[in-house]
Amino acid sequence: MENTLTILHNATIVTMDSGDRVFINGGIVIQHHTIIALGQSSSILHQYSSLAHQIIDLNAHILLPGLINTHVHTSQQLARGIADDVDLMTWLHNRIWPYESNMTEEDSYISTLLCCIELIHSGVTCFAEAGGQHVSGMARAVELMGLRACLAQSSMDAGDGLPPSWATQTTDECIQAQKELYAKHHNTADGRIRVWFGIRQIMNSTDRLLLETRDAAKELKTGIHMHVAEIAFENQVVVEKRKANHGTVSYLEKIGLLQNNLLAAHTVWVNNEEIEFLSKGGVKVSHCPASAMRMLGFAPVKEMLDAGICVSLGTDGAPSNNRMSIVDEMYLASLINKGREVFAKGTTDPTALPAETILKMATINGAKSVLWDDEIGSLEVGKKADMVVVNPSLWSMVPIHDCISSLVYCMRSENVESVMCNGQWIMKDKKILNMNEGEIISMAKHASSELLKRAGIEIPNRMNML
Ligand SMILES: [Zn+2]
Repeated sequence: MENTLTILHNATIVTMDSGDRVFINGGIVIQHHTIIALGQSSSILHQYSSLAHQIIDLNAHILLPGLINTHVHTSQQLARGIADDVDLMTWLHNRIWPYESNMTEEDSYISTLLCCIELIHSGVTCFAEAGGQHVSGMARAVELMGLRACLAQSSMDAGDGLPPSWATQTTDECIQAQKELYAKHHNTADGRIRVWFGIRQIMNSTDRLLLETRDAAKELKTGIHMHVAEIAFENQVVVEKRKANHGTVSYLEKIGLLQNNLLAAHTVWVNNEEIEFLSKGGVKVSHCPASAMRMLGFAPVKEMLDAGICVSLGTDGAPSNNRMSIVDEMYLASLINKGREVFAKGTTDPTALPAETILKMATINGAKSVLWDDEIGSLEVGKKADMVVVNPSLWSMVPIHDCISSLVYCMRSENVESVMCNGQWIMKDKKILNMNEGEIISMAKHASSELLKRAGIEIPNRMNML
């Protein structure tokens, strides 16, 4: 019989399991897609060496579960740099909407390829798409690049000022299109692709869309990804037009949308009562620190974690962050939320959101947020082999006195050396394996400038360009 076992050994294995186990010199055994054994290197080698098809000495590197980015706009990767330092309305009406509404499926495919390159370089093996227009283009790219994703279409059936091609969508069309995408793509690519429902945000949704999305997702046993309570203005509109007590979260509670399959992105403008609602409903929150700092404000992350809410990390899209590195978001999430304590206590709190909490947010909480923690989010026997090999012996991390804190406060994308998803290497020694990185970069440059021309977006010069 063919031998298909791979052993990785001589690594610090940070399992992120429920016992917080870290093997200082650990080994792991993989068969096909799955982890079949994990423990001290010596006993793993003793037990499995004779059965193994491949034995890899990780030479004192660190092994982490694949990181999970729970809020990404793959379609926006070609829009990096088109909306820097502009106000929110210019950002949305003059840059992002014209850009997104002029995208073709091929643009979306190229944009997703480029996005996946950056995700993989930052150790991401699974991400949640916030919702773009061409899910088939995204799915094609994800399948080829080899990662795992929960894809969603952005749906909107109301609101002023939408681009003409979007403003005509009826509620029925929004729901029907998503059901078709589910039928076509859910559980494809060896089970790496799942299809979710997407709601762009409450100001672009009728009540019928909200409720039918809730029911359709329940019927198909999948998740809903929605931008929630992003800006104070959103809450104001919901209070005025929909007679909610405080804002989006209190309204969603009233109509029964706060359930455990809802992934609420940002969730910045929520009060204590709404935090209770989110906790009671089992709603998952994606905290996107960089994007929040640029445009939204300080989310009450510590309060949400204290209330037992599963909070994970996201990058948001390239025009809201510019970087798609979840490694950077770990660092930022910790710093921003320590600094935010100034508002509550009059002084920063360096003990807020310690490194082990941040690591959980980027791994097991991410897996729970995408409703996939039965298979990913930690290194455990029976789970899928999604993992990251970190080289700590570089200028950015040396010396290491506290391995767990170094992963949050020192690690950069540069330290991410190899990435495995579903038992397959998708990056080895910093080389993306399934596609040619250089070719994708040239395709992306070309597609992006053509798209901006088509959309009529012009970026004004800054400084004295000669
Ligand atoms: Zn977003």
